[in-house]
Amino acid sequence: MEKRDRTDDHNFFIVEEFGDIRILRYEVPAFEQLPLREKLFVYYLSRAALAGRDILWDQNNRWNLRIRKVLERILQQYPGERTGREFEAFLLYAKQVFFANGIHHHYSMDKFSPGFSPAYLKSLLEAVGAGGEYPDLEQVLFDPACMPKRVVLGGVADLLTASANNYYVGVTQPEAEAFYRQKLQEQGDRPLSVGLNSTLIVHGGQLTEEVWYANGKYGKEISKIVAHLEEARGYAWDHTQKEVIDLLVAYYKSGDLALFDAYSIAWLKEGQAPVDFINGFIEVYGDPLAYKGSWESIVEITDKEACRRTEILAENALWFEQQAPVEERFKKREITGVTARVMQAAMLGGDCHPATPIGINLPNSEWIREVYGSKSVTLDNITYAYHRASLGNGVLEEFAFSEEELELHRRYGYEGGNIHTDLHECLGHGSGKMLPGVTPDCLKSYYSTLEETRADLFALYYIADEKLLELGVVSAPEVGKCEYNSYIRNGLMTQLTRIKPGDDLEESHMRNRQLIASWVYEQGRETGVIERVVRAGKTFFVVRDHPALRMLFGRLLGEVQRIKSEGDYKAARQLIEGYGVKVDRELHAEVLERYANLGIPPYAGFLNPDYTLIEKNGRPMDVRISYPDNFLRQMLAYGEDTGQ
Ligand code: ZN
Repeated sequence: MEKRDRTDDHNFFIVEEFGDIRILRYEVPAFEQLPLREKLFVYYLSRAALAGRDILWDQNNRWNLRIRKVLERILQQYPGERTGREFEAFLLYAKQVFFANGIHHHYSMDKFSPGFSPAYLKSLLEAVGAGGEYPDLEQVLFDPACMPKRVVLGGVADLLTASANNYYVGVTQPEAEAFYRQKLQEQGDRPLSVGLNSTLIVHGGQLTEEVWYANGKYGKEISKIVAHLEEARGYAWDHTQKEVIDLLVAYYKSGDLALFDAYSIAWLKEGQAPVDFINGFIEVYGDPLAYKGSWESIVEITDKEACRRTEILAENALWFEQQAPVEERFKKREITGVTARVMQAAMLGGDCHPATPIGINLPNSEWIREVYGSKSVTLDNITYAYHRASLGNGVLEEFAFSEEELELHRRYGYEGGNIHTDLHECLGHGSGKMLPGVTPDCLKSYYSTLEETRADLFALYYIADEKLLELGVVSAPEVGKCEYNSYIRNGLMTQLTRIKPGDDLEESHMRNRQLIASWVYEQGRETGVIERVVRAGKTFFVVRDHPALRMLFGRLLGEVQRIKSEGDYKAARQLIEGYGVKVDRELHAEVLERYANLGIPPYAGFLNPDYTLIEKNGRPMDVRISYPDNFLRQMLAYGEDTGQ
């Protein structure tokens, strides 16, 4: 579908590169279409989204805020020469720390090692009157053995003492595990998310929780968040959305996790308002024991046109179920498609900035998901920015076989990717049924890979169906063709750039993609459905017969649905271990080498837009959006804003 009102200027999206990072921008065309009331709502929610930044920094490591203040002071006040190798190294270090919200890499979790000398840091500190900081900081910055990793997930005796995060103070892993085991035992069948909003410390020989709430730990930051949420409340869409805010505020004021559950339920039920947001202690990846929630926020605006697409799919869910190449006894008689909301990010904060997810599915509480379901949100303008930034970076040119394949991708790649996601989320996961007595744990650790495989196959089978053209969901028959090329290219080759030489595939989406791609490649080899071509020493997988490939996707879908419906553990294991785990070492090495030659930083994150409130005689007249283009300047501005 043609994306109206969007810039397609490649240069808008790419701001700068440093280290292994690329800074991009996202555009928020939906903001301009909002009436003033909604713009004001976005404005105050954005303030709330930035107000918790310092919480995350402190959660990541107890030295982070102190180090950030020092970096900010040097960048703002250093009177000396701002050139030369050591100053450049200092700048790089500062940018890396800002990007990672601390002194450890956001993805590898390893501590950054500065490229400048201790003596140089000392001279910088002295030049801005902060020489007294040096003795403490020397070891933290320069000793590689001091707090080497933010989160350690295995291979050591005690995950907590080995991790440099700030969620547990003086507490060993067995102590923390016993503490929370006890707490969980006290819960009924609707357990609270124990430990989610507190630091666990030893106090007078006893374990106690310092709870994060308005009158407790992080009280200063939380009070600011609350104040902005209360300002936003006046512009909420309706009574339901006001209630969402009221519950969140009550939770922030009390620290009561029962209120967090009540808020989560109210949030997931709310699906009408044009502006939605997340603000709180949500994801637990930063804690090796997965109890503690890092602070994050996203403000999003509905993309009306894209939501219409998912609504059409949901309305026709039963048709897709009935036509699926799956045995009748595994099909649902009635079906409600899930409406995944397609949104545009308007502001990213805390653990969602500068590195950001492209979608979210919340809440995380298992029992709430079972009883009330979940809300799925995809951030359309973030994926669009990734797509635009990727055009011309050379990856496609390197791994696509022909000019025709390239041209197809340029025209339909973005649309194909989005429709695939819509089909996967709105229809794929919800389709099919398990036979009586069969439950997900029949498939044990293979369940999630098998389930992702099923949802992907459902999407692949239908993306090339005429029905989508008829419904007006896709713009041309080539969309399906393009998606098939991309899927095979990614599943057999390009996704391998994300793992290290010698590693197997572990992540379930990566496993499912390779499983599907290598299964259809093998099944269609004799009839030439997909051809493996080596040209000038480079390997390509070329789809020669798209309709036949569709039939193979359908056949595998039928089998995978059978495995899930019957809970056939043996077959699941065979399929996944046989096709989805082991990597072709030689091909992997080739892919890594070809990718490395392109010199693309592997990680990306985003600059936020700025929102300016225009007032006249104390009354709000407008909110203007602008798109800054300097990463360091935004980081320094945020520091001034939240550091007060
Ligand atoms: Zn999925």
